[in-house]
Amino acid sequence: MSDLNFDKVEPPPAADAASSSPQQPLACVVCKRAVQGSYFEINGKIVDANCKARVEASRTSGSPSQRFLVAGALGLGAAIVGGIGYGAFTLATGWNIGIIAIAVGWFVGLAVRKGSGMRGGRGYQFLAAALTYLAVGGGSVPILMGKDGNLVVAVMFMFVGPILEPIMSFPSGLIGLAITFFGISQAWRMNATPAWDVKGPFSVADAAASPVAAP
Ligand SMILES: [Zn+2]
Repeated sequence: MSDLNFDKVEPPPAADAASSSPQQPLACVVCKRAVQGSYFEINGKIVDANCKARVEASRTSGSPSQRFLVAGALGLGAAIVGGIGYGAFTLATGWNIGIIAIAVGWFVGLAVRKGSGMRGGRGYQFLAAALTYLAVGGGSVPILMGKDGNLVVAVMFMFVGPILEPIMSFPSGLIGLAITFFGISQAWRMNATPAWDVKGPFSVADAAASPVAAP
């Protein structure tokens, strides 16, 4: 199946300036074929009736719980990789660079988004936010407990680290708290429900008659 993600679909090719034809055919952004008869606009992009039906079917198909599981598994994997990467970097360099929390948020957000089939929505936002929090918490464990300490303390720090660390190093730690927040909001925003604005049907003949409507 072709990529139905509208965020990534290229706009239809611009009309060839050298073309002498005054009626540039409108092309569907999904199948790239010239539109015949009537078409729709989804998020401002031209889609023919066939592809509109396919795109709409793909939005409602599949099992929501299975999607959530896949999103959770991919997100958890990203959180583990991100958290270990964050912690390893901090241990190796001795620097606690908060900007990595934003990268972790982006990575986890991307994994959840991918696992959700680009669906987005509140549940995925909470999932991505929680996993980012735990990844940042896990990554800050080495900072909080140094090289000694036991597993119980480490797990505890994983859950409270992002809040505990700023308190322990107040007030400079407030920057860390803000950056944790940025990382979480990054993951949150990436899993918002994508815009879905359908207009139409429009007639190709009407579009040809009014050049303003053509892209
Ligand atoms: Zn099409």
